[in-house]
Amino acid sequence: MATNGERDPLLGPPGEPNLARDTNLGEHAAKRAAQRRADIIRAVVHGILTVAFVAALLSGLFLWDKIGSYAGALPKDPAKAAQRLLESAPVIDGHIDLPELARTVYANNITAFDLNTPTLGHVDIPRLKKGQVGGFFWSVYTACPAHAGLDDGEDFLNATWRVRDTLEQIDVSKLLINRYPETFELVTTSDQAKSAIASGKIASFIGVEGAHQLGNSLAVLRQYHELGVRYVTLTHMCNNAFADSGGYLQPIPTKWGGLSPLGYKLIEEMNRLGVIVDLSHTSDDTARQALKHTKAPVIWSHSSARAVHNIARNVPDDILERVGTTDGKVDAVIMVNFAPQFVADEGKANVQAVANHIDHIANITGRAHVGLGSDYDGIDSTPEGLEDVSKYPALVAEMYKRGWDRFELAGLSGRNLLRILAGVERVASDLQAHGVPPALDIYDKRTDLPRPEL
Ligand SMILES: [Zn+2]
Repeated sequence: MATNGERDPLLGPPGEPNLARDTNLGEHAAKRAAQRRADIIRAVVHGILTVAFVAALLSGLFLWDKIGSYAGALPKDPAKAAQRLLESAPVIDGHIDLPELARTVYANNITAFDLNTPTLGHVDIPRLKKGQVGGFFWSVYTACPAHAGLDDGEDFLNATWRVRDTLEQIDVSKLLINRYPETFELVTTSDQAKSAIASGKIASFIGVEGAHQLGNSLAVLRQYHELGVRYVTLTHMCNNAFADSGGYLQPIPTKWGGLSPLGYKLIEEMNRLGVIVDLSHTSDDTARQALKHTKAPVIWSHSSARAVHNIARNVPDDILERVGTTDGKVDAVIMVNFAPQFVADEGKANVQAVANHIDHIANITGRAHVGLGSDYDGIDSTPEGLEDVSKYPALVAEMYKRGWDRFELAGLSGRNLLRILAGVERVASDLQAHGVPPALDIYDKRTDLPRPEL
């Protein structure tokens, strides 16, 4: 009997005897056969629908993350969320001391080490990539004279080699950036940083860590700017000709009561040039006066919160309260420092402790005013869970667990800093468009230059 799909097998070939057609006995059998056909069809349709439903459900579950990313949602899992977030908003760290490591360990000989292999410090290219780093400020740092065994004198007039050493630090930064052109790109503007990041590079800014590196001279500031420097920290751990320092764990005696007269001029010239005023390391009075005087947004490139851990080097709440975008406040970003001694009591610095600083600052300033300024390669030890530049995602994951959304996280990881830089650039071009001239002021304690009557 033919059983192909074109014919009903029970009917058989036309013309042949057929029980279902030709006999009464066949009526029952024919009904059963019809019933069976209906059952089979129902089962097949049901099966197809079930398979389709399960497939849709599974693909929905598995693909949701992917679909969600186009719609803007982050995965539920914090580690995956951090990774996804950092793919589009990578870390831009406000303060990394790799140039100091190059100087103090390798005497600036960039052929003596390879950033493609593990370094002695916290930073190398594989770990930067693992940490989803899209940029950082290369801190060009030379120690305060007293910390380098030098006496710069009561009025900071003795020669100290600080300008030479700063130039060497800028040089070694650029040599390293140029040695790995597939990884690093020297940038000086927020737009350049964005396009470097878009092309998969690590945007490399340069920042000078302390106005003691200016040789008491605004002309030196201008030349640093020419070389690509985009922030100057007003002090390190010593007072200088421009401003008072905040000391370290404890405050130190002040010289000016905040900014010196030349310090005010320094801020004006930084505003005009487009160099970010960095208030990390400064005394509270220096910070308060700088906030009042600056026309441009400012940063704390690597500072945490004093209310969370009470040391002089951290920022107090009354200063955080002056940060914001409403009337009378200054747009700023406080980039949280990971140094264990700034974060928590001994043995207690970990991811959560650093996150506590971020949350505390954000609770006062708003989440658009916090960033990351690890101080990697400039600190002897690190918090548990934040051992090197590969670990930023753990901190982003922690903030996600605490309810930060993707916009707030992207701000924290780097976009808040880029906003500040863009604001600084706008102020500079406004001032220059209005014809504000370069500041020609000279440190009034200098005796090596004539003082024409003005
Ligand atoms: Zn520092």
